[in-house]
Amino acid sequence: MSKTLQAVRGMNDCLPTETPIWQMVETVLRRVASSYGFAEIRMPIVESTGLFKRSIGEVTDIVEKEMYTFDDRNGDSLTLRPEGTASCVRAGNQHGLLYNQEQRLWYMGPMFRHERPQKGRYRQFHQFGLEAFGIGTPDIDAEIIMLTSRLWRELGINEFVTLELNSLGSNEERANYRDALVVFLTEKEEQLDEDSKRRMLTNPLRVLDSKNKDVQAALVGAPKLSDYFDEESKAHFAGVCQRLDAAGINYVINDRLVRGLDYYNRTVFEWVTDSLGAQGTICAGGRYDGLVEQLGGKATPAFGFALGIERLVLMLTSLEKANNIRAQVDVYVIGLGEGVDIKAALLSEQWRDQVKDIRIQNHCGGGNMKKQMKRADKSSAQVAIIIGEDELAEQSVTIKYLRGQHEQQKLSLEQVPALLNSLI
Ligand code: ATP
Ligand code: MG
Repeated sequence: MSKTLQAVRGMNDCLPTETPIWQMVETVLRRVASSYGFAEIRMPIVESTGLFKRSIGEVTDIVEKEMYTFDDRNGDSLTLRPEGTASCVRAGNQHGLLYNQEQRLWYMGPMFRHERPQKGRYRQFHQFGLEAFGIGTPDIDAEIIMLTSRLWRELGINEFVTLELNSLGSNEERANYRDALVVFLTEKEEQLDEDSKRRMLTNPLRVLDSKNKDVQAALVGAPKLSDYFDEESKAHFAGVCQRLDAAGINYVINDRLVRGLDYYNRTVFEWVTDSLGAQGTICAGGRYDGLVEQLGGKATPAFGFALGIERLVLMLTSLEKANNIRAQVDVYVIGLGEGVDIKAALLSEQWRDQVKDIRIQNHCGGGNMKKQMKRADKSSAQVAIIIGEDELAEQSVTIKYLRGQHEQQKLSLEQVPALLNSLI
């Protein structure tokens, strides 16, 4: 026998036992996004490599070492998208969606990063992302953070997540701060690891969120970015905080939160949890007022976030929040006797017409009562509807309950829809 083929490392199948929880999460995400007036946009999975280099930044983990980049048959350099914001801005510019107008968009789908696979970190993973264009005031920052907070409430995980908030100020303020930070880091150079030494020269703010404890210890007493803010930047951040306070949303201000992508300015945030081990960030985002113009559009303020669906699913599973998801099948229909299966299939069709959303598995493959009942038991159905020659003659069905203690019963055909409705 030839060797069984395997999926690419870090790229997972989502099996039928797992899809119900994915669908539940996706339904909540869609519903909450629409409830704030956001519309779905779908972008291609492959883009020109230049798009990501120009937007995410050359000196970032993603562009330096995580992208799936290849030349296609024409010799064009293409990349499997590592995130959605760049594509969303590209699409918005290309189709004139962002020019002098507001736009509230969301998307969902696979992203690709060549990272070391581990729990909560994969090479193909799925993000839900949401972006608002054309609004520069702090009200939209706060509203989108409120939207994320609603997501956690609807998913039942709000007690297990914490909001971290920071402001990165304007480009100019960051540039001034960068100079001061480099002076500080140069003095501490001996205490930095190789990565941070390199970053000090290329992207010094990234040293601030190094995960290395020694580097973090060396950063005590480092200059603070917020000391470089002008009145406008201060007022913007205060406006976000004021609105979150009014909405009763708790947050921790983390002045080391700088995010791994270059395009952010002003407000940045992350939702973190300690119920997932090392991969504790489930959702991250912020303001990126320069990106639309940087990618060839008219200057347009923007705010957005992305969340990792795998990490949410892992959290829901480990917190046992996914136990009462509706089963795949509600009813299993059994037809016994000469030609009864044909009639049973037609009755099933009729019940699907009458009872919207009912999930009926009609037995196929023949066999006696014992075999068919065995299949019914194995299905996730709550009841089996048994139709034999007698039942057919008297226009009735026999109901056998597959879970719990209930007596078998006979129902007339007219009574069946009411029973089916009670199962949904
Ligand atoms: P991390 O610090 O965990 O590497 P990141 O800053 O690279 O995250 P973002 O680019 O902000 O992540 O992506 C937003 C969200 O997407 C993350 O908070 C996380 O939930 C999810 N995510 C990112 N990379 C992966 C991955 N390789 N596998 C699974 N989920 C991921
Ligand atoms: Mg990362």
